[in-house]
Amino acid sequence: MPRIVLLGPPGVGKGTQAGPLAKTLGVPHLSTGELLRAAVAGGTPLGREADVYMRAGRLVPDELVLHILTERLEEPDARPGFVLDGYPRNRSQAETLARLVPVDIVLFFELPEHALIERLTLRRSCPTCGRLYNLATLPPKVPGRCDEDGSPLLQRSDDAPEAVRTRLRTYREQTEPLLEFYRSTGQLRSIDASGTTTEVGHRLREALDRPNP
Ligand code: ADP
Repeated sequence: MPRIVLLGPPGVGKGTQAGPLAKTLGVPHLSTGELLRAAVAGGTPLGREADVYMRAGRLVPDELVLHILTERLEEPDARPGFVLDGYPRNRSQAETLARLVPVDIVLFFELPEHALIERLTLRRSCPTCGRLYNLATLPPKVPGRCDEDGSPLLQRSDDAPEAVRTRLRTYREQTEPLLEFYRSTGQLRSIDASGTTTEVGHRLREALDRPNP
């Protein structure tokens, strides 16, 4: 079973594609953002520390993220394979990951910046099941309510305009250089992340079926 990393800017749709992709492949979806938000919601000491960085749109310190990620990677369901979303986000995390587990493919989601900002500000999520919506392109059936469980949908605190700007800057400065890193290792495959969820899903499957460059 494959070990796949999803790489790309905030708002590009990694979280939306990761769940269905993981289900098709029969592996768990691991999202460091979701793991951190669960720690924040649980009020753990790690969660309280991470919350300050996340609200501001900054990266949570490497050692905190590594702690929750290794715990999750050690669970039996993640041993044979996974779809990892949100990690690595800087060079040091990429080097750490390479030491932790062998990654088969790094899928890079590409989208122009104006489209990212639009997606982030129109994004809503379900606090109960984590499902994501977009008010323009992927609205819930009943306005303001999750299709799965009827919970009232929320806007993430870090989807506020100021935090969005910081997240995009952080991405350009720290995460984007990883493209070169993964290109040089031969693990990188890029996909066009524009269009509907279904279109991106198709491109994703195609990219996975391509042989390594
Ligand atoms: P997005 O990719 O849209 O920014 P995520 O849910 O992946 O959303 O991440 C939300 C926030 O969680 C990030 O802005 C950051 O503060 C924190 N975070 C998630 N993953 C990491 C990571 N690997 N390293 C540092 N911080 C992280």
